[in-house]
Amino acid sequence: MPTMPKLKLYNTLTRTKEDFVPLDPANVRMYVCGPTVYDYAHIGNARPMIVFDVLFRLLRHIYGENHVTYARNITDVDDKINTRAFERWSRKRPLLAEMRELTEGTVAQFNTDLKALNVLDPTHTPRATDFVVNGAEPMDMVRIIDKLVVRGVAYAAEGHVLFSPTEMDRLLGVPKYGALSKRNLDDMLAGARVDVAPYKRDPMDFVLWKPSNPETEPGWDSPWGFGRPGWHIECSAMAGALLGEQFDIHGGGIDLVFPHHENEIAQSCCAFGVDKLASVWMHNGFLQVEGRKMSKSDGNFVTIDELLTTTTFGGRDWPGPVLRLAMLKTHYRQPIDWTVRALEEAEATLYSWSRVGDQHLVGEPDEGVLEALQDDLNTALVFAKLHKLRDMAVEFPEVRPRFNASVALLGIKLRPLSDAAGEVGDLVGEIETLITARLDARRARNFAESDRIRDELAAMGIALKDGKDADGNPTTTWEVKR
Ligand code: AMP
Ligand code: ZN
Repeated sequence: MPTMPKLKLYNTLTRTKEDFVPLDPANVRMYVCGPTVYDYAHIGNARPMIVFDVLFRLLRHIYGENHVTYARNITDVDDKINTRAFERWSRKRPLLAEMRELTEGTVAQFNTDLKALNVLDPTHTPRATDFVVNGAEPMDMVRIIDKLVVRGVAYAAEGHVLFSPTEMDRLLGVPKYGALSKRNLDDMLAGARVDVAPYKRDPMDFVLWKPSNPETEPGWDSPWGFGRPGWHIECSAMAGALLGEQFDIHGGGIDLVFPHHENEIAQSCCAFGVDKLASVWMHNGFLQVEGRKMSKSDGNFVTIDELLTTTTFGGRDWPGPVLRLAMLKTHYRQPIDWTVRALEEAEATLYSWSRVGDQHLVGEPDEGVLEALQDDLNTALVFAKLHKLRDMAVEFPEVRPRFNASVALLGIKLRPLSDAAGEVGDLVGEIETLITARLDARRARNFAESDRIRDELAAMGIALKDGKDADGNPTTTWEVKR
């Protein structure tokens, strides 16, 4: 009898770790909120992309490649995007077309970033603008909003359509709004700010549709006039159209629990007449940079592209696998501090693994690694297990396929250090940079620093040999430790 997989996932809805039971094991369905594409994506945006990519890989491993459907959206209509599109609009074509061209560029950049991070293509990457009014889709945004109005939980006012959480709870007969974020509607109403927009009946009412000025803002014709959707309705429509009225897992960053995900649940449950949208709600913790919240004005805003292709973070660029490994070292629900130090450590780990790594030697992943990963993606434990496995693989080559398969499950590709020079070109560059830094430190009689670099290289599996050249100048050669 094959052993049944025991995947456990922490569910924000119940605040507990639960056994994962798919609605249909032949088609496990997951939706993750993607980026708003008005500019380069920052490294915080990369976190859910990498975390849920690991989950996607794990689900495929457990249920089979063809039995997992993963949708990750692109928000390509938003006030910041609208403003940028308007600024560059030549008026020779519709503003909507201008906006589309603008976001084509940022989406292409985002895809390049994700390729470098070895993030797999999801099954679907819907763009919000394709789901506003779409005759081919039974579940576009306008149709869902219309259903909500008919059901009496939404109303039109001054070109807007608003969703009323109060009406929702009245319709259901139980207080349901706030179940995900554990907020109580009465408390929220009592604490609501006084400067509420005049077209709202209730301070907690949120926008499903808003009017657009055709001269300056992109929009679509609708029963409520020319306008554009609110952000929350986008995900209800895309998830509904691609995954169905109910599905298994919904993910995103912790910042999205309220109001975005709370509102998604409210809209979808009321429109589709279901009591739940996703069975499991998963949220990654926030990423900050060198101990501070990332912010453009504080000068610590870091894009994925900058890390990969420029020297602005730590004075050098960083390979995609180093970024990916650094992201996974911390458990996904914990906050993560993105530091140069952490990237250096991740690089050292990667090098030490590369010593026994060879992506061509792939077997079955290690049971212990799999078990840790199935325990709510306990990557911190996975790393501890991988370090041990790596040490075993140094001694026993027969362990290497198991080690490689386990690392591959995290989406990390290893290149063997002992490969032909061309293949390890960038590794060689890194090693030589470190050796030069060490020689500089020795010349400056900074022996602590020189020892530190020697240790760092040793952790990468590199042994140094010091000597002198014909003129008596110190030289250092290196070799891969066997
Ligand atoms: P946004 O483009 O801001 O809508 O974000 C896209 C995705 O990235 C969402 O799932 C967010 O929750 C997530 N996200 C944004 N900023 C961070 C951050 N600093 N740390 C972790 N996740 C983030
Ligand atoms: Zn969303």
